[in-house]
Amino acid sequence: MPAFAPCDAGLRDNLDAANFCSATGREAGKPYDVVIVGGGAAGIGAAVPLLHAGVEDVLVIDRHGVGASFDRWPQQMRFITPSFPTNSIGMLDLNAVAIGTSPAFSLQLEHPTGRQYAAYLRSVAEIFKIPLRTGIDVRSLRRHGDRWLLQTDAGLIETKFVIWAAGEFQYPRLTSFPGSNHCVHSALIASWDQVASDEVLIIGGYESGLDAAIHLARLGKRVTVLDRGEPWEVDSSDPSVTASPYTLERLRAAEVRERVTLLGGVDVFEVCRNRPGYRVQLVDGRDLVTKARPIMATGFTGSLKLVADHFARRTDGFPLLTDRDESTIADGLFLAGPMVRHDEHIFCFIYKFRQRFAVVAKAIAERLELPAEQLEMYRMWGMYLDDLSCCGEECVC
Ligand SMILES: Cc1cc2nc3c(=O)[nH]c(=O)nc-3n(C[C@H](O)[C@H](O)[C@H](O)COP(=O)(O)OP(=O)(O)OC[C@H]3O[C@@H](n4cnc5c(N)ncnc54)[C@H](O)[C@@H]3O)c2cc1C
Repeated sequence: MPAFAPCDAGLRDNLDAANFCSATGREAGKPYDVVIVGGGAAGIGAAVPLLHAGVEDVLVIDRHGVGASFDRWPQQMRFITPSFPTNSIGMLDLNAVAIGTSPAFSLQLEHPTGRQYAAYLRSVAEIFKIPLRTGIDVRSLRRHGDRWLLQTDAGLIETKFVIWAAGEFQYPRLTSFPGSNHCVHSALIASWDQVASDEVLIIGGYESGLDAAIHLARLGKRVTVLDRGEPWEVDSSDPSVTASPYTLERLRAAEVRERVTLLGGVDVFEVCRNRPGYRVQLVDGRDLVTKARPIMATGFTGSLKLVADHFARRTDGFPLLTDRDESTIADGLFLAGPMVRHDEHIFCFIYKFRQRFAVVAKAIAERLELPAEQLEMYRMWGMYLDDLSCCGEECVC
């Protein structure tokens, strides 16, 4: 008789077979080679080069299903990065996560919605026969001897290597300032049709806030967007720090321009209920009054909070990684996705972070003593970026 209920207690030191409750039905003491946590763009994309490298004992797990975050995007939201079927000239579609695939080709459009892109990811998972288990929620990780133990809602999973690809979208930043509870986060709005008021205040003016403003203006609403900075004005050719061309173009449309007011250099101090509406107090002492619950587009805390203890931090708070995207303090734990940073390089878009999938696959294959020769073709496709000195040039015009 086990001394504890095996599936719902925390991680334990005593991992004898009698007490081991496997989330996937695998025997105790038989770790997977690699478990990828998250079946989004990063998790599905990271699995493909692993399979190409000959790492076969891979499992992708997801708390919901493949592309679950994209399925949860507001209904009207579309990719800001365009897709185009450029693969035939050796340039991979910007939103593809695997060589030989193109969302533009399979979906027949340039700016997919979240749901459309989720369908593309599911087709990649199917075509490349990626081993998957869905409906498994990872709660924490722990190193145990030469392997990792993943504590999940369904039991334990043992693995030699972990690729953390659990993303950001399902972890919205809900407390940005006092009174945040009076606001609604943009990631929790399923469709902009649900916003009843004809006047809306949005706190946060980067991509999510501007996208919300554009859709609400198209629905005939007057919208005010507040931001500490002026992301719509930043003079950079890197869409990681300034609004994308797609967004700037949509903001210039007459129906949007005449209804949207952009207020930069404005820092929110507190939001209070001011029946029948809300009062937004600014740090500079000014007050704004609004009828409807303000929308917060203040970003995401991200899934890294679940594994924070296993990464050292850079001065900007992002995880410190080796040149192969492994934690500098936890052997065998890799990161894939938009939280990857190296020096001043920000890998927050798919076309950026996908360049690191093969680097991680190579590192793991070498440790498993597999040749990984097939990964050389990833260089030709701009999918193997191990020399960061090449990047970050600003456009001259
Ligand atoms: C609003 C928004 C718009 C964006 N638009 C673009 C764009 O146009 N172009 C672009 O290139 N990039 C865009 N990005 C950036 C980035 O490409 C996306 O965030 C993308 O979803 C990142 O992929 P991911 O796989 O890291 O995360 P996700 O797509 O969030 O995938 C993570 C997966 O992990 C699962 N998961 C999470 N936690 C757990 C857990 N504990 N246990 C098990 N499973 C878990 C989730 O169910 C999910 O399926 C956007 C980001 C945001 C937030």
